[in-house]
Amino acid sequence: MKITLTAKVKILPDEETKSILIRTLHTYTSACNYVSVHLFSTQNMNKRALHGELYYELRRRYALKSQMAESVIRTVLAKYKSLDSLHKPWTLIRFNKPQCDLVWNRDYSLKGDKFSVGTLDGRKRMSFAKPSSSLSGKLGTAKLVYKHNKFYLHVPVTHEVPNISEEDIANVVGIDRGIRFLATCYDSNGKTLFHSGAEVKTKRAHFLELRRELARTGTSSSRKRLKAIGQRENRWMRDFNHCLSKTLTEHYPEGTLFVLEDLSGICATTENVKTRNRYVNVSWPYYDFEQKLMYKAAFRGQKVIKVNPAYTSQTCPICGKREKANRDKVRHIFRCNGCGYTSNDDRIAAMNLHSMGIKYLMQSGESKSLAGGAKPTVPDVTPTIQ
Ligand SMILES: [Zn+2]
Repeated sequence: MKITLTAKVKILPDEETKSILIRTLHTYTSACNYVSVHLFSTQNMNKRALHGELYYELRRRYALKSQMAESVIRTVLAKYKSLDSLHKPWTLIRFNKPQCDLVWNRDYSLKGDKFSVGTLDGRKRMSFAKPSSSLSGKLGTAKLVYKHNKFYLHVPVTHEVPNISEEDIANVVGIDRGIRFLATCYDSNGKTLFHSGAEVKTKRAHFLELRRELARTGTSSSRKRLKAIGQRENRWMRDFNHCLSKTLTEHYPEGTLFVLEDLSGICATTENVKTRNRYVNVSWPYYDFEQKLMYKAAFRGQKVIKVNPAYTSQTCPICGKREKANRDKVRHIFRCNGCGYTSNDDRIAAMNLHSMGIKYLMQSGESKSLAGGAKPTVPDVTPTIQ
């Protein structure tokens, strides 16, 4: 299996190279805008046609090297194609950010501890801040980015990780994601882990309040701050997800199957989610967490599946009785009206996800390594919460 991660590498060009890079980026984006205007009016997304119409003009007008002219056409074309595939209206795309695409081994390469990058003035060598170990893998088309007076290379690195087959799985962990508990995990040994959501809840409420205040002010400086706060929050959230997914993948052994609820259908039914909770319920942090868990798991010889979350918090994991009244949402208690089994409601969901993982494995024809885990074991105590 292949996994591609983007390494964000801070590059350290000398003063002379810096000004060359700035000039290169400026020229590149100007050329992109030139192509964009053309493509916008002709609406012809045929690469060969575009090449025929613009290639020589690009080289003449912007003094671009042959490869860079081709990259410009490809960059603009990709943007318009994504507009098309996302069914967005046909609009003129502007290239404002100083960045350019660099094809591996053609526009940039890595030799020893230095990157060699193609510029308007030929190839320039520069050192970088990140250890080269994170760059071990197959490198793809990178983006040269200039931000806050610093230069970065965003390099996609493809890693080869071993395929995990169902036979390798010896432990199943159901992960219920929520607001009170970011993650409630139930494993094949009948152990439950709670990861409190208190910190995230407080922090996000704080960011939300800050944003509301600034939105009310409505001045241009407050709009700027608003944007900065949004970026700070996203960074913080990503970092948090990074830590949580790391903790989980490191806590459980190799050969673990993580079972998550598939929340992708949730957006379609937002009317069921109270407005107050929508902000925390249906948003990208869940998706971000999933992505991070998936790739970290793959590196550790673990696997992640997503299952339909319907009724996971209403069904008794012991006797299988499904009833809405089983769950007391306010007191966070699940009490089965059939067999009387009682536990914390988030834990019940995790137990059901665990069972669904077992079912998945049995359906894929493999259960030998899971003799002990096939039934969720009845836990002796309800864990203390917070
Ligand atoms: Zn029951």
